[in-house]
Amino acid sequence: MNTQTSRSVEQESLIGALQTLLPACVIEDAPEVLKAKAQDRWPISAKWSAEELQSHLPLAVVTVRSASDVSQALKFAAQHQLAVVPYGAGSGVVGGVVNQRGHLCLDLGGLNGKPQIDNDNGEVTVPAGVLGGDLEKILNQHGRRIPHYPQSLALASVGGLVATRSSGTFSSKYGNIENFVVSLEVVLPDGRIITTRRAPRSSTGPSITQLFVGSEGTLGIITSVTLRTLPLAKTRRFSGVAFNSIDNGLKAVRQLLDEGITPAVIRLYDAQEAVHIFEKSEIAGNDRVLLVLAFDGHDAVTQAEQQVALKITAQHQGDDLGAVPGEVWERTRFDASWLDRGNAGAFSFADAIEISASWQQLPGLHGAVLNAIAPYVDKAFAHYSHFYSNGGAIYFIFFTSGKDKRESESRFHTVWDITLRTVLEQGGSISHHHGVGEARKHWMKHEHGDSLKVLAALKQALDPRDILSPGKLGLNEIKGEQQ
Ligand SMILES: Cc1cc2nc3c(=O)[nH]c(=O)nc-3n(C[C@H](O)[C@H](O)[C@H](O)COP(=O)(O)OP(=O)(O)OC[C@H]3O[C@@H](n4cnc5c(N)ncnc54)[C@H](O)[C@@H]3O)c2cc1C
Repeated sequence: MNTQTSRSVEQESLIGALQTLLPACVIEDAPEVLKAKAQDRWPISAKWSAEELQSHLPLAVVTVRSASDVSQALKFAAQHQLAVVPYGAGSGVVGGVVNQRGHLCLDLGGLNGKPQIDNDNGEVTVPAGVLGGDLEKILNQHGRRIPHYPQSLALASVGGLVATRSSGTFSSKYGNIENFVVSLEVVLPDGRIITTRRAPRSSTGPSITQLFVGSEGTLGIITSVTLRTLPLAKTRRFSGVAFNSIDNGLKAVRQLLDEGITPAVIRLYDAQEAVHIFEKSEIAGNDRVLLVLAFDGHDAVTQAEQQVALKITAQHQGDDLGAVPGEVWERTRFDASWLDRGNAGAFSFADAIEISASWQQLPGLHGAVLNAIAPYVDKAFAHYSHFYSNGGAIYFIFFTSGKDKRESESRFHTVWDITLRTVLEQGGSISHHHGVGEARKHWMKHEHGDSLKVLAALKQALDPRDILSPGKLGLNEIKGEQQ
């Protein structure tokens, strides 16, 4: 345990009591530890001033090793009216772990025991702190996989992937995290430990498991996750198709899905973003948009699907570029160095805003957002990252800067505000997969309208003292409106 010179008497006694209560846990309050756990990958928090950082520092960081540790810590926090924030692996990009000074940070990285693989039933039960990439490697050694591949697979904990309702690039065929989660062990705010029903599917009331998927640490702390697994894919085939317009690309994708073709990966890049893949593929882009498809599974099936898909894309004037653009995409799919480069300058930001919308809304939204944010960005472009039979997700990437901290931050927030407002005005949803955190909490009442009161009522019932991740999901903003 490190000593922090500026500890108050009250802090000293709280930390001492915690150590007595949880002798097996590492409890730290060294400034560098508190600083690291006060933030995630939200670009704004990376540029906090010393004063801003101070106002978000946890009281202490407790690395828990079991659900029982979490339970004891929560009971302690309730007694002492301390806020508790679960910290997965800190790869969140919207400030999910950011909270007011003085909270107790529960670092779940210590929940990292061996996954229990049940190949007979195609399931695995894994402690919540295990990283997604590590789980995938272990499963692969047993001939299994969970085809849930967010770009941050190696950076994110399994519990975090569930708590944020994350999405992976193979979602068109396999679905998102909610489609893999079978059951959860959760520690409720009052310290009770529950395990939700484990079954392939049930019709026994609303899914209690799904209540915690996307709850971002507000309703309980997920300590263990049971997920479906699949055998390793026998084949993966790629196609790159160039179109002269986004509209043609979208029409082709829609027809693919309507006709029951299910590529695992469907990504449609606008001309500005496609340039990067065209360059790496050594193909002349000629200002065209690029569709990347990946077919994953049985050899004969993927071959047939690819053939039909290419017939459909040709009907929409798609130019078949062969496998290379898809292979380039696969090789670089976990590389997010643009984010680090774009955020490297003291007064510059790079960020992504992912939203979802119906087929009717998608094409209009793409142009509307890029036009509206144009005065505030140095550069912006987008791709359609996920598709469903009824619509898809657009992933806007922007770079902005200013002459000083104030101006650059003001531009950053303006881009976010304009984007989310435009999305809501046109009927879309303000997040497809990164979640709410700090970045979207003020928009939740506009996103959900009156139905947000249902979530607020659940929060009130489970956590009447508002111990867990207070202020998150915009729930405090509708306090008093509940009847
Ligand atoms: C380069 C990069 C690429 C990314 N790509 C994707 C992507 O493709 N798809 C995608 O969906 N996301 C992506 N993300 C976002 C991020 O990786 C996900 O949100 C991820 O699920 C966060 O997991 P984590 O363990 O890091 O959680 P954290 O950042 O630690 O926490 C996120 C939120 O969940 C809560 N939380 C964490 N663990 C638990 C738990 N066990 N119980 C209860 N609450 C908990 C936290 O309090 C916080 O509110 C990306 C991020 C980066 C940096």
